Amino acid sequence: MATNRTFTMIKPDAFEAGNSGAILKMIEEAGFKIVAMKATQLTPQLAGKFYEVHKERPFYADLCTYMSSGPIVAVILEKDNAVEDFRTLIGATNPANAADGTIRKIFAKSIEANAVHGSDSDENASIEGAFFFSMAERVA
Ligand code: GDP
Repeated sequence: MATNRTFTMIKPDAFEAGNSGAILKMIEEAGFKIVAMKATQLTPQLAGKFYEVHKERPFYADLCTYMSSGPIVAVILEKDNAVEDFRTLIGATNPANAADGTIRKIFAKSIEANAVHGSDSDENASIEGAFFFSMAERVA
């Protein structure tokens, strides 16, 4: 069943650079509503769990180190067609390939430090939202 929610993180590079507010403004102006949000910091173990699907990839260890290197903002978002529309808003994984006007084009520093996460499916949006938030921490 399609859902109208997705999950994002403002990653350590964007948080450290003070771009969280500007990124959230772009997200809200694109029509997404914030359902849950918090600033937190992942341990390397939690980052490893979140990105477990990538554990065979050569960049996995670096990714876990990077994602636990500083605070992040975790956010559940709501909008019609949320997963697909959010992937369009953030742009390609590698900012060098991201379309003009996308969040990664504007804010990402590299293919790894690429400013934001965006769920790639409805199923993963639900899993990732539940990783960070209980039901009691969300807007109904
Ligand atoms: P996404 O869905 O666009 O975030 O991309 P992926 O699911 O393929 O990768 C997850 C995250 O791993 C990316 O957002 C990057 O932070 C990082 N990543 C992806 N590809 C590479 C790579 O080739 N090198 C490094 N160092 N990090 C990467």
